[in-house]
Amino acid sequence: MRARPKREATAVISCADPSGTCRALPDTGVASGTPANGISRSGTPCPWIWLPLRRVSGRSPRKRGYRHPVTGRLVIFSGPSGVGKDTVLDAWRLRNPLVQRVVAATTRAPRPGEVDGVDYHFLTREAFLNKANCNEMLEFKEVFGNLYGTPVEGMERLLAEGKVAILKIDVQGGLEVMAKRPGAVTVFLLPPSKAELEDRLRARSTDDPEDIEVRLKAAHTELAIGTTCYEHLVLNVEVDRTVDELEAILNG
Ligand code: 5GP
Repeated sequence: MRARPKREATAVISCADPSGTCRALPDTGVASGTPANGISRSGTPCPWIWLPLRRVSGRSPRKRGYRHPVTGRLVIFSGPSGVGKDTVLDAWRLRNPLVQRVVAATTRAPRPGEVDGVDYHFLTREAFLNKANCNEMLEFKEVFGNLYGTPVEGMERLLAEGKVAILKIDVQGGLEVMAKRPGAVTVFLLPPSKAELEDRLRARSTDDPEDIEVRLKAAHTELAIGTTCYEHLVLNVEVDRTVDELEAILNG
């Protein structure tokens, strides 16, 4: 009999939040040295356990007042810039066609190869704020000097179609959605190490050096909040394994 390959690098770490401090975190003041590796919550090492999750967005059809056959699942998917969120999402989508990213809106200029309506809805600041004022965004945040927001309509459509609707958003947006949609599955993608994250960001030719420095600084805060407040921490070492872990979370 062949020995089963050892599970290593890619891991799902499900953390309970015994202190219940997540929701009370200030916007930026939590970067109190929570390490990227050696993940901890309130200074206590997280238990490496599987947390069975079967959360379905929407209300039970048996409940009174039920209107929409909402059967999809909402996933808040965050991670520091350069950790590989897009690559992982592309691979996850190929593996599981139900997985679809909610196309966010942004005021940032398109990068080479990015397509309006596919990668983002690229809007002027004025158009963006108009939509936000009309409550068309579930949340919106200023990230790296640009506005990013989650269009409610796009998200609800995917959920009504029974899809796994992925919100690829920053941690501040993630915290807001957690409060508004407590049934959402929360996943934070971790780099193998801070050094590797730096290498990946620098290797990316899409950002200018100044932008890279800003993103590196922001990564510290993202890691501190992500490792504290997200239910599932997934180490992204090898894309296929990462997708295995994400599928396991969905099916857990
Ligand atoms: P990028 O410019 O690299 O595509 O994205 C920059 C950051 O904005 C990433 O951390 C990404 O997750 C975040 N982001 C993208 N869309 C949204 C959104 O709709 N809401 C929020 N809050 N952040 C977003």
